[in-house]
Formats: sequence, C-alpha cells, structure tokens
Amino acid sequence: PIKTRFAPSPTGLIHLGNARTALLSALGGDVFVLRIEDTDLERSRAEFVAELIDDLRWLGLDWQEGPRSAEPDPRWYQSQRGEIYANYYQLLEEKNLAYPCFCTPLELEVSRRTQLSSGRPPRYSGRCAHLSAEEIQRKRDEGLAATLRFRVPKDRVVEFEDEVRGPQHFAGEDIGDFIIRRADGSPAFFFCNAIDDALMGITRVLRGEDHLANTPRQLMILAALDLPTPRYAHISLIVGDDGAPLSKRNGSRSIKQLREEGYFPEAVVNMLARLGHHYDSEELLGLTALRAGFDIRRLGRSPARFDVSHLDHWQSLAVRGANDDALWHWLHTETRAMVPAAHRADFLDIVRSNCLFPKQADAWARILFTDELELTADIAAVAQSAGEAFYLAAIDAATESPDDFAAFLTGLKRRSGAKGKHLFLPLRAALTGCLDGPELAKIYQILDKPRLHRRLAEFTY
Ligand code: GLU
Repeated sequence: PIKTRFAPSPTGLIHLGNARTALLSALGGDVFVLRIEDTDLERSRAEFVAELIDDLRWLGLDWQEGPRSAEPDPRWYQSQRGEIYANYYQLLEEKNLAYPCFCTPLELEVSRRTQLSSGRPPRYSGRCAHLSAEEIQRKRDEGLAATLRFRVPKDRVVEFEDEVRGPQHFAGEDIGDFIIRRADGSPAFFFCNAIDDALMGITRVLRGEDHLANTPRQLMILAALDLPTPRYAHISLIVGDDGAPLSKRNGSRSIKQLREEGYFPEAVVNMLARLGHHYDSEELLGLTALRAGFDIRRLGRSPARFDVSHLDHWQSLAVRGANDDALWHWLHTETRAMVPAAHRADFLDIVRSNCLFPKQADAWARILFTDELELTADIAAVAQSAGEAFYLAAIDAATESPDDFAAFLTGLKRRSGAKGKHLFLPLRAALTGCLDGPELAKIYQILDKPRLHRRLAEFTY
C-alpha cells in the first residue's frame, strides 16, 4: 500500500495551497497520515492545530494515523519527539557524518558575500569541517555555541525520479555542508521531516515544489542513517489569475473563511482536485470517486491557476445537488426563521436554482416573506415604465385568479395588452425589486396575496 502524509506546521490557518497538498496527499495514497510539524515553538500554536483538524474534517479528509485533537502526542507532534532526533544526531556524529560548527552568523555572512562577489554560488566554506576533538572541546569550554552540520559527500550525485517533475540530479559539490541542528538546539525542519517520514513508513511524499531543493539533503540524511526513503512528488504551486503565487492579494482565502462564506466542502474539494489535474467526469465527485480517478502522472508541472469562477461553478453544482435537509441547515438561522413551514420546499427549490451563498438565500427570503422591499431608482423606473393601467389590470387579474399563475397572466394580457418583456420585466421589478431571479410562477405562488396586491398597488396612484 502507498502511505502518504500531510505534515503542516501549525503557524497559521490552512489556505487553498496547503489544503490542496492535503487533499492530493489523501487522494494519492491508501493510508494517510497526519503529522504536526511544530518544532518552531515560537510560531506554532495549539489553536492552529485545532483549526487545521477542523478544516481537514470539514473537507471530508480523514487520516488513518495521526492526532484527533490539539493535545500534543509524541506519536505525531514533532515538538514531543526531541529524543528521537537527538539519537539520530548522535548517530551521525559517531559516524563522523555530522560535525559541530562554531562559525558565527557574522562570519558566515562575510563568507557568503565574498563568494557572491567573486561570482560563486554561496555555500558553507567547510571551515569547521575538520576541527580536532581538542579544538572542539576548547571551543565548548569557552562557552561557544555550535550548530550541527551534515557532512555532504562532495563526490556524490543525488538522483531521484520525482513522480511529477521527472528525473532530478543534484551534485553534492553544489550543496555545502548544511545545518541540521541550530545553535539553540532546535532541529532544522527538513531533518525531522525526513526522519519522521522514514520512521512513519511514508512511501510517497506529496508536497509543494518549494520543497524540491530540500529533497537531495533529505535523501542524503536518510542514506547516511540507513533509513528507508519515500518517493517524492513535488506539485506545482497555485498561482492567482495575475500569475503570481497565490496570496491574500490575488484571492487566496483560508478554508475557514470559505466555510464561513457558505462554500460547500464538496465545491472546494472538487475545485482543488482539478487544479492541475484532469478528471474525465465534469460532475461534482465525492472523495471516493476523486480517489478512483486520481492519477499522479496526470498532475501538471506548470503552475496551477486558481480562478474563483471555477470554485463558484462547483459551488453551484453543490447547492443544486444538496438534499433538503442539508440545504435547510446551510441557511442562516435568521433566514430559516422567515420561511413559513408551508413554503419550505418551494423556497429550497428557489435557493437551489438561484443562490450560491446563504446570504443570497437570505435576500430572497426577505423579498418573498417580509415587507422589506426596497427598489433602487433603476428598478423602480423599469416598474413604472408599464404605467398605472398595467398595475390596475394586474390587481384585477390577481383578484380573479389568486391561485393560478397561467390564468393570471392571461387575464393581465387581455386587460393590459402588454406582452413579452414589457409584461414580465415590470411585473418582476414591482414584485421582487430585481430584474432576474426565480420563475415568476413560483414568486406568484409564494408571495402572500395581500403582499402581492400591495406591491402592485405601489405603482397605482
Ligand atoms: N511542515 C512542512 C510545511 O508545512 C512540510 C513540508 C513537507 O510536506 O515535507 O511546509
């Protein structure tokens, strides 16, 4: 079986980008693991863990291994796994595959600039790579803090087949000895990340292409420790419609925000699953069907473009497809309070064909079930264009056929002579304050009669 994982750092809310990584990881494996990468103690927060667990559950993603709550557990929370990492640091030092480095940040910066100005890509000079045991001890006795550096095999070329991006080569000589433990004792992210992938038996790592450069280092670490390596699939990042990486500025939103706006999780999931991955079906698919149709080889290499109109397309399918009960509870409480029980089913039909969001449904409930109708000047002008006689005729026709819209229309046509859009548009404007929306027959049936008459009478003198 293929074992995948989602390994978020709980330093903020989940946005579309990491939600997509989570979704594709869930679709791309038989066993899905959730791991919390909270080694950055300053920025990680338990409330973000709680939020991300809620977000994943809301999206319908389930993990077979991983935490069920924000309670730190050494099985899945890296902040609780320090001893495990300490063991591996020690192993590397014993094998002389890692060494303490006493270079100060200032020294490193000077060396970096020197290399840059002579046109070389900056990498660690190796200054501390061959300190003797005595030198190391002396520096320690002086109280100097050390980072731990991995000794990169300079003659080695790391090669791997990325499941999305194809064959990759990285020459050891291009990668300077890199830091795996900071001077304050905290681990480098990619160190714990690689160790845990191995210990948790992950066989496929699906993550953003911003992590591609970490992969050769992680492969070196795992090889040095004789630990198993997963296959890697680096997915392209999401960009906005301006082509720039998705950010707040060009439309990225957190999953929490989308949920609060009333998006259905099915809509978000279908949009994300199809960003850079083609599905033959154009229907709204459940997770089981999305998994069945998922093929990692179909993931595009070019940046995936996020377009809110695609999200809204899936949302309209989700609203249409929702059953009465789900749709009813999707409405705001205040909206539900406005809808008379006898009109519930009709109202839900109206919502299905006219609304993407609960706030639009709320506006329709106000139009249909309250007297809060306000016509803008433009709409009032459309209503007025029909003239007073039209509304007098409409009142008569409505009195004659209160329950039969077809008969009402016939009566109105006969009395007023109006037809086509000269009939429907003014009528719609007067009754709803809008120029489009639910079928007039439905509106006629739902509006209570005194209210219907009052709205028509507004345009008589
Ligand atoms: N904690 C890392 C992140 O959130 C995980 C990277 C990975 O998936 O390997 O970016």
